[in-house]
Amino acid sequence: MSRSHLRLAAVVAVLCLGVAPFVLSPFSITLMNYIGIYSLVAIGLALLTGVGGIVSFGQAAFVGVAAYATAWVSTLNGYSPWLGLLFGVALTCTVAAILGLATLRLQGHFLSLSTVAWGLAIGFLFGNIEGLGRFNGISSIPPISLGSYALVTSAQIYFLIWGIVAAVLLLGYNLLDSRIGRAMRALRGGNILVESLGINAFQIKLVTFVIAAFLASLSGWLYAHMSRFVSPGPFDAGMGIEYLMMTMVGGAGSLLGGVVGAAVVTLLKNSVQDYLPLIAKGASGQLEIVAFSALFILFLQWARQGIVPFAARFLPKLQHEWPKQAPPLPRRPQPTPGELLLKVDCVERRFGGLIAVNNVSFDVRSGEILGVIGPNGAGKSTMFNCLTGALRVNKGEIVFSGRPITRDAQSRIAKAGIARTFQHVKLRPRMTLLENVMLGTYARTRSGLFAGAFRLNGQEEASARHEALKQLERVGLGEKPFEHAGNLPLGNQRILEIARALAADPALLVLDEPAAGLRRQEKLRLAELLRSLRSDHLTILIVEHDMEFVMSLVDRIVVLDFGSKLCEGAPAAIRSDERVQEAYLGGVA
Ligand code: ADP
Ligand code: MG
Repeated sequence: MSRSHLRLAAVVAVLCLGVAPFVLSPFSITLMNYIGIYSLVAIGLALLTGVGGIVSFGQAAFVGVAAYATAWVSTLNGYSPWLGLLFGVALTCTVAAILGLATLRLQGHFLSLSTVAWGLAIGFLFGNIEGLGRFNGISSIPPISLGSYALVTSAQIYFLIWGIVAAVLLLGYNLLDSRIGRAMRALRGGNILVESLGINAFQIKLVTFVIAAFLASLSGWLYAHMSRFVSPGPFDAGMGIEYLMMTMVGGAGSLLGGVVGAAVVTLLKNSVQDYLPLIAKGASGQLEIVAFSALFILFLQWARQGIVPFAARFLPKLQHEWPKQAPPLPRRPQPTPGELLLKVDCVERRFGGLIAVNNVSFDVRSGEILGVIGPNGAGKSTMFNCLTGALRVNKGEIVFSGRPITRDAQSRIAKAGIARTFQHVKLRPRMTLLENVMLGTYARTRSGLFAGAFRLNGQEEASARHEALKQLERVGLGEKPFEHAGNLPLGNQRILEIARALAADPALLVLDEPAAGLRRQEKLRLAELLRSLRSDHLTILIVEHDMEFVMSLVDRIVVLDFGSKLCEGAPAAIRSDERVQEAYLGGVA
């Protein structure tokens, strides 16, 4: 399937939506309107939960803030609903930003629990503020007007609702395929990788959170002016869970899944309400919830990934276009060969009582390859994590390119020109090879949220794609750039990490055990790649457990043992050093 097929499918979908109100009954149109309104919240949640990995139970509260805000502006104060929109969106996004600032540093379950807490708290507020009608709510809300044309009937507001849904989908998919969108997609799976690419993870989380709240606020505005009445019920914690359910049913990582999930849940709820009384006479509303929960549990058992990703497996794969020739991304000023690039001075790092790195010092000069070797547990990875900012040092100083970086955030150090790979490979398995490597270009590019959503980033995006393909070719993975990274064998995953690091145009490349777990053939290929990088005058710091592997590659070697530096020197001298043989080979050699 090519992009033109995709466009055709979108046009057909828009046409179907366009004629729907002329053929459907008024009741069905109302149902469609609700689906559209819920879709907006679910799309935001798909972005927040499915893409960004932040599970929120509190979206209904954001819908409520905007609905009450516009009701207050338009009904109680008599201004235009359009002013209500502005106020509702501004208020919701402000509340979300404040909540996000306060909670988004929490990890995992704690973050989700906090969404439950503020979801309940805000829902509770609506029913208890005198000026907002308490549990009676606010009624007689005016309809939205376009000039003198009031959107009163369900068929009239239909076009506004679905027009907004279509626009949100279009902009959302554009965004996901842009620089900021890729950063959002990388959030899932931990901050360490994201930060090591020069991305401020907290900032990206906050942006994602506010976007989701923004979509909820659009939904709340439409809801208030369609139903012409607001009360606390539709914005309570139960509804917050229902929105999450819609997102999961549709497929958490998929924006279109938000729409499908909203449709399925709404229609299902509707038919459960229709048929349940036939089965159990006189059944109360409680039974509805039981039936619905049972259906949801079945869903979790059988189709956990959600409808859209499931259906997508049966569709022909989307054909990607190969990156075209594009002007190269700007390069950073390269250090002069031989100058002092990195100075590690008496660094110490403890874990409780354990001193993992003990008073270690060494220098790296521009253009050289320095190997750090030592037995397992010697403190090599800890050392690397300290100098890339992934771990704080307890003592000592690290200077890079003449600037102290000891206390800098990881993303700042990455921007300064240190790119790294990880001992335990950190890729985004569901992104393509090309996209994984494009993540590396983040700090070299600048287009923001709006440029991404409105596709004003064409030039830079083309350059970034071209750069990523160039690096893939450089490491020998240029043949299948649209393959998912998760499908690669381990050896190639390690090589892909190197391509990603190279895409950052680093002044210093830091590799943590790139040969670990590789087969002989793969090791040979890796050695060849590293030699080619060396002939490109790249400065490389490499940790390796396998002494033979580094011996032929590096200019100098630093040996660590039990956290301390044992010795330092040329490979030949290290090989014949008795202390090294003792430590490294346990005296066997
Ligand atoms: P290497 O990479 O040389 O194999 P590491 O730097 O991974 O060694 O580990 C050095 C020592 O620090 C080991 O004893 C390890 O158990 C300990 N260590 C590493 N990371 C942590 C951590 N996050 N918490 C506690 N101890 C750790
Ligand atoms: Mg290690």
